[in-house]
Amino acid sequence: TKRHYKNFPMVPRVVYGRGSFDQLADILLPKRKNSDAPFIFLVDDFFENSDLQTRIPWLFNDQIIFISADEEPKTTQVDELVKKIKADFDEVPSGIVGIGGGTLLDLAKAVAIMLGNKGSSENYQGWDLVNKPALYHVGVPTISGTGAEVSRTAVLLGPEKKLGINSDFTTYDQVVLDPDLTGTVLTEQWFYTGMDCFIHCVESLNGTYLNAFSQSYGEKAYELCKEVFLEDLPKEEAEEKLMMASWHGGMSIAYSQVGIAHAMSYGLSYVLGTKHGIGNCIVFTHLEEYYPEGVALFNKMRQKHSITLPKNICANLGEEEMDTMITVAYSMEALWENALGKNWKECISKEDLKNIYRKI
Ligand code: NAD
Ligand code: ZN
Repeated sequence: TKRHYKNFPMVPRVVYGRGSFDQLADILLPKRKNSDAPFIFLVDDFFENSDLQTRIPWLFNDQIIFISADEEPKTTQVDELVKKIKADFDEVPSGIVGIGGGTLLDLAKAVAIMLGNKGSSENYQGWDLVNKPALYHVGVPTISGTGAEVSRTAVLLGPEKKLGINSDFTTYDQVVLDPDLTGTVLTEQWFYTGMDCFIHCVESLNGTYLNAFSQSYGEKAYELCKEVFLEDLPKEEAEEKLMMASWHGGMSIAYSQVGIAHAMSYGLSYVLGTKHGIGNCIVFTHLEEYYPEGVALFNKMRQKHSITLPKNICANLGEEEMDTMITVAYSMEALWENALGKNWKECISKEDLKNIYRKI
């Protein structure tokens, strides 16, 4: 059989450095189609009335929309934003700028795609269903770990599934990496989102899909995470290293896949609304059998930063909810295949999943 390798897009432009956020005005200027075609800034509402707000380079009739990251992005939310933007402006916007964590970064990607494509965003959840380009879109991460700034997916909660819009048009056209912006993240959130990166590395490096391309990024990110979470680095150095760990961790899974913690965390998220970072952590501590070295390191990191994870969150689940959770997790075939190989169904049953969930 003929070999076939994925030909995937990378972020074509990136600026890195403390204070680089202030270059955004210059970066956007040549992309402005005319004074009636605005830039839309989708910003985590943590930054409402902050110093960062005053530094957003809005001009003409640009719009800043503050959005809460309390809940993960939904297809309905994307559709409403697109409708609002279309109603507010006669011209197609010059572009979309997402400022925030994985939640805002994914929302901004999805809105940029849907301003270039017809119908509802739920029709594009899946692989390569987008057929027209997105609007020009820029990502500015303010918390490090998800890798959403580099990935070709925008994960959305739809009416039937939690699934990404995976497409060549999803990836950002421009990313601004300014470690200064992450200085205000609270310890717990820093840990949960940072562990998302660590878990990306563990799942990619221990997966059957691994190749030298993914490995080279995964190993770098893994080393950076160990430095950040197990050594006592100065705050600024830790911020810088975690930002680059997130980037490399994202690159590592681009050419491979995540694994068991992510599959099971998707189940938690779907049924209980558990957020991605903390959900991964809650699951990961119970996966010693599958990722012994990773889980041991994770527990060390957790202890060092005195993080206590919620317990027994599935204890009171009814059978029906439990079944839904298992069905959602078990349907993530690529993740299981990456983790356990082609005959993964022989390695782990739905009953095994239930036993793990009952402990969570
Ligand atoms: P988040 O965006 O949900 O934000 C978490 C919390 O941190 C929020 O309360 C937010 O207001 C706050 N916050 C963000 N920046 C801050 C700052 N500088 N100072 C203080 N508080 C700040 O968190 P996340 O973990 O980055 O993102 C999770 C989302 O990312 C999930 O929806 C998940 O599905 C998605 N995700 C996407 C990918 C991808 O490749 N597209 C990969 C992994 C996860
Ligand atoms: Zn993740």
